[in-house]
Amino acid sequence: MGYKYYEEAIELHKENVIVLSHCDTILHLLPGIYVPRDKIRKLGVRSEFGHVDIPRLLEAHVNCVFFAVYVESVFKPERALRRALELMERFYSEVEECSSKVELVKNISGLEKNIKEGKLCAILSLEGAEPVQDSLLLLRMFKRLGIRCLSLTWNERNMLADGCREQRTKGGLTNRGVEYVKEAERLGIILDVSHLNDAGFWDLIELVKKPIIASHSNCRTLCDTPRNLTDEQLKALAEKGGVVGVNFAPNFLTKSKSATVDDVVRHINHIVEVTGVEHVGLGTDYDGIGSTPIDLEDVSKLPRLTAKLIEHGYSDEEIRKILGENFIRVMKQCWTA
Ligand SMILES: [Zn+2]
Repeated sequence: MGYKYYEEAIELHKENVIVLSHCDTILHLLPGIYVPRDKIRKLGVRSEFGHVDIPRLLEAHVNCVFFAVYVESVFKPERALRRALELMERFYSEVEECSSKVELVKNISGLEKNIKEGKLCAILSLEGAEPVQDSLLLLRMFKRLGIRCLSLTWNERNMLADGCREQRTKGGLTNRGVEYVKEAERLGIILDVSHLNDAGFWDLIELVKKPIIASHSNCRTLCDTPRNLTDEQLKALAEKGGVVGVNFAPNFLTKSKSATVDDVVRHINHIVEVTGVEHVGLGTDYDGIGSTPIDLEDVSKLPRLTAKLIEHGYSDEEIRKILGENFIRVMKQCWTA
């Protein structure tokens, strides 16, 4: 498979700000349900396993990564807070170990400073609100600890809303969920609808004033799964100024075990057709997915996707938006509390 525009893609990666809106790399930094002790990696050390580490991010000229704090279901709800804090502590210490290359970013000035200095910006997102449960005080505390993006649910039901695998009762946000959304917006935390069920999505759309994101979801028209968004949802999210970060999981691209870089482009094209080029970005879901598309085996292969976008006729300006500028816009709009 040839990449006619690979050199041009590398140039665009060097020139532009590249944002990945969802990676599960933290799960690989300490033992857990999915990652046994002998498969633990270091954030700063290039590994032959997994999809993301600092050397490979820098190789692909990535500037900014949302690292998810995801608590495995078995810890929920009683041990979710403990587990989340352990994940965050391990992440902080690994970031400190590589402080010449990466910094935990909590505001726009930090974002701009680090991008200028060529340092990787690490942003913390909370995937599923179980660690904070029904406490608005804990939500504020997690903001202090660096959480800048929040999805109310993972796949299950919790005290705030129903996840996307909990469609049966068609429940939307709970009263507490509504309070949470208002408080998260007030605090300047980006709200993320990936994993939320449909009723919750529409409740959220009614409530929010600022842009929301789907950090790692695709198009349901092309791949029918509750983890992907319908065209109506894509339009509603775009009307709020939001962005969808495309997910590289083959089962969310093709509903099968295999996919290629062209399938990722197909989903990007569809979002652009439905919403325009201002509302799509790169989610990836790297280190959270069991398999990857052919030719996007890990983050270092990302320029191949950009080469494909050039091949599909996207302009430099459009590619700049897709690679990162759209997400930067949302951060600027949301983080000012
Ligand atoms: Zn996820």
